[in-house]
Amino acid sequence: MTKTITFFDTTLRDGEQTPNVSLTNEQKFAIAGALDKLGIDVIEAGFPASSRGELAATKSIARAGLRPTICGLARVLKPDIDACLDADVGLIHIFASTSDVQLEHSMKKTREEVYDLSIEAVDYVKQHGMQCLFSAMDATRTDLGFLRYICKGVESAGADIINIPDTVGVMAPSKMYDLIAGIRAVIAVPIDVHCHNDFGLAVANSLSAVEAGANQVQVTVNGLGERAGNADLAQTVMSLQSIFGLTTHINTEHLLETSRLVERFTKINLPPMAPVVGENAFSHESGIHSRGVIECADTFEPGIMTPEMVGQRRRLVAGKHAGRHAVREMLRDASFSITEAQLTDIMNRVKDLGDQGRRVTDIDLYTIAEAVTNDVSEPTIMLDELSVMTGNRMTPTATIKATVHGRTKVGARVGVGPVDAAINAVHAVLGSSGLQLKTFRIDAISGGTDALADVIVGVEDAKGHLVSARAARNDIVVASVEAMISAINRLELRDSEDH
Ligand code: MN
Repeated sequence: MTKTITFFDTTLRDGEQTPNVSLTNEQKFAIAGALDKLGIDVIEAGFPASSRGELAATKSIARAGLRPTICGLARVLKPDIDACLDADVGLIHIFASTSDVQLEHSMKKTREEVYDLSIEAVDYVKQHGMQCLFSAMDATRTDLGFLRYICKGVESAGADIINIPDTVGVMAPSKMYDLIAGIRAVIAVPIDVHCHNDFGLAVANSLSAVEAGANQVQVTVNGLGERAGNADLAQTVMSLQSIFGLTTHINTEHLLETSRLVERFTKINLPPMAPVVGENAFSHESGIHSRGVIECADTFEPGIMTPEMVGQRRRLVAGKHAGRHAVREMLRDASFSITEAQLTDIMNRVKDLGDQGRRVTDIDLYTIAEAVTNDVSEPTIMLDELSVMTGNRMTPTATIKATVHGRTKVGARVGVGPVDAAINAVHAVLGSSGLQLKTFRIDAISGGTDALADVIVGVEDAKGHLVSARAARNDIVVASVEAMISAINRLELRDSEDH
């Protein structure tokens, strides 16, 4: 019988307390929907007593009929608990400081006062027939005798689950194991943990807590949260399932899309090397590694975690470290037929670009291959004219004249900004193409207002083929449109060669 670990997601509460992050009610609602689809057991939707807006947002999520239990946060105070009751949540999470440093300088109460307030608060929640989660805030810096005493007290008062948070992220895995094992020995209700990442150990500490008997872990999407954040959802789920062989309710194939949604809303981008959901998590550039994964993916990937499991795909990357096998595979995949001599020529040009410090995108590789093989097909779309109007008192509007499949087309669209309007206008001249812009990144290459803008786009067609393309121009709008068109032409070419 494998143990099932439940997931408590606090992206909407602790995650929203990330410095410089604030979410609209619509965004919170969309995240809650994504967490439901992902299979999260409990969603902490907010802290209803903190503001009227927070109460309304929590209430609307609680009433949305989602499958996860919706939780509201409260201090050990009746008005806070009343706000949670008002918000119609299914679980009330009450918390009180238990460490001496927080008792003295934050709560300004004695241990006995906090003990009594906590028992009263649990009792008040239970009188209303509600589920109660109790958190001993700063548990990992709390006197162990007092921590056990208050845990036993709130359990007797009816707490349904007890959280042992590492509020300031000071634990190490072995210490966390001992602490949780010590609490497990004196209480019978499920144990929950909430680990912060101040030393980069939030996930590791959560895993140790589970090994020592914890039943539930608190996480956030992309590890958002106060200071260095909380335990990352994707990393914690995949470690528990793939390394420890434990069961969860998470539909892991939705991990990537959930991460991207939250990235977009919070504007906090993950580094490429982020585990599980990072751009590079299943990318290979070096010759030995690429050749290995072409033969058998398990050679240079974990194997117990595949890209498909988490909604990712494996990518071979052309670059100065790329090997012949990978480049041959990438070109075959893009429907090029090349000789070994042509491949040598292509490899040399790719390595030259890499040596110049250039990032080589798929489209750079295809352009080189076209030049070497003379395989230049008629482009689907050629840009003839582009004009954009923008300003602080008008809706940005773009007009494009282009030759599409040999015919002149004109289209105009508005957007939230000039780039958005111009990309919308490209879609307008193409008609219904099923193409989707999946990624868009702008880097300024030099420093001033005349900087060269380097735009890299990723475009996906209706069949799921994805290509990236780049363009560099002093004009950010022109660069964006050129990169987009370059990707479209390659996708269309590939599509026509598939048949
Ligand atoms: Mn926290």
